[in-house]
Formats: sequence, structure tokens, C-alpha cells
Amino acid sequence: MSTVSDKRPASSAECDPLAQVADALFRPMGVKGVYARTALYVQVLDCLERYITQQRDPSAEVMRFPPVMSRQQLEKSGYLKSFPNLLGCVCALHGTEASIRSAVERHDAGGDWTTSLSSSDLVLSPAACYPVYPIVAARGRLPAAGVQFDIEADCFRHEPSAHLDRLQSFRMREFVRIGSPREIVAFRERWMARAPLLAAELGLPYSIDVANDPFFGRVGQVMAVSQRQQALKFELLIPYTATAKPTACMSFNYHREYFGQVWGIQNENGEPAHTSCVAFGIDRLTVALFAVHGLDLQRWPSTTRTALSL
Ligand code: 5GP
Ligand code: ZN
Repeated sequence: MSTVSDKRPASSAECDPLAQVADALFRPMGVKGVYARTALYVQVLDCLERYITQQRDPSAEVMRFPPVMSRQQLEKSGYLKSFPNLLGCVCALHGTEASIRSAVERHDAGGDWTTSLSSSDLVLSPAACYPVYPIVAARGRLPAAGVQFDIEADCFRHEPSAHLDRLQSFRMREFVRIGSPREIVAFRERWMARAPLLAAELGLPYSIDVANDPFFGRVGQVMAVSQRQQALKFELLIPYTATAKPTACMSFNYHREYFGQVWGIQNENGEPAHTSCVAFGIDRLTVALFAVHGLDLQRWPSTTRTALSL
């Protein structure tokens, strides 16, 4: 697996094919898993976004979220029970002018200004779909056919890593469906049948497998087993190189009535709505395209170029 490091030995690109890809796509920003994207990378990412837009259901409502969301809403969603280790909270200097000045002076004197920080009412969004459920709940009962969204956010997960496919800050696009159990199961099944066609069009090798989220701690292991047993999560996995462990580039999640109950989202008949989201790891998919097809876009397979309108 390739790495992006601030101080790469000159010869590393020759030893590791993905190191060369990383050098062309990312620029270091001084922290592991947080990178600037190059023009070449953004060109393909934009094409991929347009390609995904073409796959969207015409009835989907489009929303784009900022990289932050309400801390209270994420707490209510149960995130702290599942992934407290991954969460990033926005902190600020909340005190008086004098206390803020003293924090800055402590920094100027070589000390630690961050001890004066306290939490704000924002967290960094760990997944794109959390803010959509309270928005839907506030609208009252669902229409007969349920609702569908196309959403996106830059997400944060506190898992610093030197691996090219594990970023702390990455973009996630999601198609979210909220409705009756029957509609939700059908939505996820349709997408799991469709994803292989997308991978084939993009010329990417893939497999689809049942999966679990990395729930925190010992209790989390039980949650992970239960999630697998109920087949609530599947992933589309793409090997970046012939010998690499495949990377999860899409996920197909069925939350049952969990968010419906937490937020009081009701179907037309007053029952808790079921929800599902299909997540596209935009960064992982973009890296996969370069890792599999190389850096010269002119030499990409014609099916891929056509699909992406390159
Ligand atoms: P999930 O909520 O299923 O963990 O994440 C949805 C999708 O976001 C994943 O299938 C993956 O493509 C992407 N994703 C999750 N974690 C990371 C990460 O650490 N780095 C990157 N680049 N993408 C991620
Ligand atoms: Zn989601």
C-alpha cells in the first residue's frame, strides 16, 4: 500500500507503483491523511461527480452540506456509542478578551494556547447523511412514496494514517432513501445490482461483500457481529494493485428504523420510517481510477473515458 509522506526517499516512487500516483495527485499539508489535491486529481474527481449525478434518481432532492454539523444532532444520532474514537469536535476560545489574550500570550511565550479551548456546538461531519434525517423529520410525515436525496460533505474521521486510501478528511457522496421497509430494501438491492455495472463502465476490478463498521471497543465487537449477521452493510471493494488488499470504495447501508425512531420520521401511515444510504467514497474512487489506469488520461480504456466524458 502506498504512502504519502512529507519526506519521501527519492527512490520510493521507483519501488512502489502507487507512490508515483500519490506524488501526482496529492501535496502534503504537514499532517497524515490531510492532503491538497492537484489539478489532475480534481479534473478526474469532477468527472466522477458528474458521472454519479447521471446515476441519480430524478426525484432525488439535492443538498450539499458543509464539513461541520450540529454536535447535539450527532450526539442524538448515537455516534458516541459507536465511534467516539473517530469524532472530531470543533473547539474555540470562548472566554473574555482578557482570557483569549492570555492564551495567545502563552503561545507567544512558547506555551500551549490550546489548554484554553472549549468545545463549540459543532462537530466535523463523520459521514454525509447524519444531517439529512432531522431535516426530513421537521417536515412532518413522509409522502406516500417516501423521499430520496443526493447529498455530499467533506467528512472527517480521526484516524491518521500514511495510507493513500485512509484520509482523515475525505469527500463522501450519498444517495439516501427514506420510506417504508419495502421501498428501502428494494432501493438497496437495486443499488447493489447496479454498482457492478458502474465499476465495469469505469474499468475497475471489484468485489461486493458483506461488511461491518469499525464500532468502538469490546461492546463494539458485538455490534459489528450483529450488523454482519443481519447483513445491514455491504461494500464495493476495489484492489488498487493486483496484490493489494481491496479498499472499500462504496457502501450500501440499511439502518432499518433506527433513524426513523431517533428523529421521529413517520411514514404516511404513522409508522417509523426505514432508511438506507448508498455512499460513494469520492476520494477512494478517484484514487482507484488512477491506481488502476495510471496517470496518463489519454491512455485510459475507452469505456472509462466515455463514461467519465474525459
Ligand atoms: P462508511 O460510512 O461506509 O464507513 O464510509 C462510506 C465510504 O466513505 C466508504 O465506502 C469509503 O469509500 C469512504 N471512506 C470511509 N473512510 C474513509 C477514509 O478513511 N478515507 C477515504 N479516502 N475514504 C473513506
Ligand atoms: Zn449514510
